[in-house]
Amino acid sequence: MGVAPYGSVRPWFVASTSLTLLANCSSPQILSSPTLPADSEPSGAAPDADRTRREVTETLSRVERAMAPICEGKCGTVGAAPDLELVASAGTIPSVNGYASLILYRPDGTCVRETEEVRFYCMAHEYGHHLDVAMSERRSRSDWAGELRADALAGCAISSASVSFERLKTRFDSWMSSERARFALACGVDESHPALEWTWQALEVGAGVCRGPRPSKSAILEAVEPVIQKAHEAARSERKRLARTRGNEPCLAPLQ
Ligand SMILES: [Zn+2]
Repeated sequence: MGVAPYGSVRPWFVASTSLTLLANCSSPQILSSPTLPADSEPSGAAPDADRTRREVTETLSRVERAMAPICEGKCGTVGAAPDLELVASAGTIPSVNGYASLILYRPDGTCVRETEEVRFYCMAHEYGHHLDVAMSERRSRSDWAGELRADALAGCAISSASVSFERLKTRFDSWMSSERARFALACGVDESHPALEWTWQALEVGAGVCRGPRPSKSAILEAVEPVIQKAHEAARSERKRLARTRGNEPCLAPLQ
């Protein structure tokens, strides 16, 4: 999860009075979405801000409705706001532990400009961070495990809201066939997220739990643990292989 230093939170956020009230400055962090390659070059046309905001709000409402049985009345609150200076396409700031989070999104980012399914995935992933981190006593570390837990919770939302896994898979397949996919197995798609194939597996695991008889947050988090282990094992072995080939450590960040 992209944990950005607090300095990366823009002044408008700090200056916004209502949001400042929500900010918990003692433990600031932004948990972000994986870096998704764009389908094509941006058209150059400015995104329609009102339409984007409406689509994001509607998608987030769908995610909240889908996850209501999982958080059992202790779902807290989530708001969303555009942020052109966000490094990732979307990110979550757990603002009041155990209660509220703010989801930030780039209006020109892949998360909101892609297909309906991709937008739902991104918002569900961010909401997954909200449930995993903001709605629990512990504060997750910013590591692959936290990201895959958010993905498993997103998989539950996708399944419960009847979003098309088939159409989402088509997008993931195209991203996973890119040249970078093999390298991502070792180093992740960016500094904080594992390769997309683990994201996909975590989504499927979460969806599987929520198609079953007794879906719960703890059942989802437990079910995704083997995927987390596999992601780490594969990365370790791929890093060794690349290090032998290249003669140096291939990844910037240590395995998290
Ligand atoms: Zn994330």
